Amino acid sequence: MMINSNKTTRQFNTIPWQEGIVLQESNKVRSNFNNFSERLLFQKKIIDHYLGKKSGMFLILPKGQKLLNALISLLKDEIGKQFNFQEYSLPKMINQQICEQAKISGQWDYYLLSTKSHRSTKGERNTLTLDPLQCTPFYKYLENKKLNNLPLRIFDVSGPTYRNEDKNALTPLIKQLEFRRLEFIYFDQPQGVVNIREQVLTKLEKVSQALNIPFRRVIGSGCYEMTSEILRKPAKTLDTIPIIDLEMKLTKPYKKRNKKLDYLEVVGASVLQDQQTNRFNIKPKNPQQKLWSGCVGVGLNRFMYAFLSNNGFDENKWPKLIKKYLD
Ligand SMILES: [Zn+2]
Repeated sequence: MMINSNKTTRQFNTIPWQEGIVLQESNKVRSNFNNFSERLLFQKKIIDHYLGKKSGMFLILPKGQKLLNALISLLKDEIGKQFNFQEYSLPKMINQQICEQAKISGQWDYYLLSTKSHRSTKGERNTLTLDPLQCTPFYKYLENKKLNNLPLRIFDVSGPTYRNEDKNALTPLIKQLEFRRLEFIYFDQPQGVVNIREQVLTKLEKVSQALNIPFRRVIGSGCYEMTSEILRKPAKTLDTIPIIDLEMKLTKPYKKRNKKLDYLEVVGASVLQDQQTNRFNIKPKNPQQKLWSGCVGVGLNRFMYAFLSNNGFDENKWPKLIKKYLD
């Protein structure tokens, strides 16, 4: 074990690859609340039910929206601005062809939701899929393009993504049909992509610490269907592990399939090598260079949950860093 300022790094003899293995954890972060319960999200008017308790959809009420806006501003400022990510609004619908090209279909079939036209206008008749991942439309946009001025760094926070979760797995702010994320997407030469993920993850850990939320890094599972080469074989170094999740500790465990879990996966951070750029034929302008890509998705509803679990509902007692962004 190696201990540096705010976290403990585990040492491994061989590069670990199995999902769930803990790589690092915070060691000095203390939460600031110990009375959290899911019911308080409703009693304290953060969110409310919509279309019944089993719909998986919720309204965010003004008090919750204020917190959500503050978290978004914080991420835009502390990460977006600091590391030169440009903001885009990406479409939230994709078609069957993009699903197949991105190889979403294999992995996410069960969770996809689609539109159905009502045929009363001369509009779109094809079925479109509600995007479950958020970065796919950007790969489509860059298809067959040659990129210069690397790195290319963008983010999107323009709307919800959708997954048709099992009714009995639904949990407010944690597992919903419709949820919000901020997605950072980056393209660069291999070492550049590795460095950007590390910069963003390290900064997110600092943010987590400043918000009194204990955290840990674990090996995660991918969004896109991974080729055997990229996910099923161990990475050559720790920093090329394809998916690293940042989990935040809760003051009250939540239930997932009858298991009680203390840590909540809030961030998924990927180094996808040239897998997605190949699938969309995206190349660097300079033929001598190699192009990799990756993304860091921050689950905003989950971030709210982890924040409230560790800081409670009284704004006056919230940490300085969030107060700075509350209007
Ligand atoms: Zn992504």
